[in-house]
Amino acid sequence: MGQQAPTYERFTKDPFEDFQPEDETKGAQEVIQWAYEQYEDIVYACSFGAEGIVLIDLISKAAPEARVVFLDTGLHFEETYQLIEKVKQRYPKLQITMKKPPITVEEQAEQYGSALWKRNPDQCCYIRKIKPLEEVISGSTAWLSGLRREQSPSRSKTNFVNKDERFKSIKVCPLIYWTWEDVWSYIRLNSLDYNELHDQNYPSVGCIPCTAQAADGDRSGRWKGLNKTECGLHTTNTASE
Ligand code: SF4
Repeated sequence: MGQQAPTYERFTKDPFEDFQPEDETKGAQEVIQWAYEQYEDIVYACSFGAEGIVLIDLISKAAPEARVVFLDTGLHFEETYQLIEKVKQRYPKLQITMKKPPITVEEQAEQYGSALWKRNPDQCCYIRKIKPLEEVISGSTAWLSGLRREQSPSRSKTNFVNKDERFKSIKVCPLIYWTWEDVWSYIRLNSLDYNELHDQNYPSVGCIPCTAQAADGDRSGRWKGLNKTECGLHTTNTASE
């Protein structure tokens, strides 16, 4: 790129703005390589979905000892925890940590009433995902995310390198040009482990109370019936505490 890597304070534009990726990873491998050369403290916040598995494999080629953080809300499916164990075995050098919320599910029920996710999912996500991620990212110049442009209208303008107003950071998104088919071709071609729930019509897997079955490649199974489509990690809105 031949220029200083952007930080939140001095971000002007995506350094990959004019980049026309032609390799089989649609630019992902090159962007990842660049990101790890530029940001020593970069962290990958991985949800261990299909995109996450792909990104972990690509990251491990550029930075075998990369830091990977899973936001362990305490409400995930057993299949998700099983997958994380398999990933740890496959990539033993990766530094995978489980970031927990400041309060347990039981403490949350005592303080806010039971099943907060039904009454105020924004508040629940704020406590169990956004606050913990804030803590993780506050110690880093940049973070990685598996967002893809085709996932939703709100993600369609995502660039490789983004100024992240929500977390006052740089967000690097190597998979922006990947389609759902690309993700699964890569998983199959490389025989990667993936969440078994994907084979049971759960294309997108999050917390148990907020995940329902859906059509292939569709995020409509998340927060079904709750007038909510994002947990808030990828929006500039600040959920109320
Ligand atoms: Fe709470 Fe649901 Fe958000 Fe998980 S996805 S933190 S259960 S509202």
